[in-house]
Amino acid sequence: MYIPSTLRGQFLRLSQSVAEYMSEYRFTCPNCDACATVDGGVRERLLIVGCPVCAGAVDTPAFVEVSPHNTE
Ligand SMILES: [Zn+2]
Repeated sequence: MYIPSTLRGQFLRLSQSVAEYMSEYRFTCPNCDACATVDGGVRERLLIVGCPVCAGAVDTPAFVEVSPHNTE
């Protein structure tokens, strides 16, 4: 697909701004050991609402960022 250079520059800036939001995280519940892979948006939500399995409080150390380069 051809993308004009001007649009391509805007797209790259947009990609960088959402990169963190779109990152994947490995979630391990500190309360019930439930595991799930979530994206940045879900991570933000779990930090607020807690674990979807046991409803326990979830803190940032429960999330480990998954590098897309490490997944085969
Ligand atoms: Zn839990």
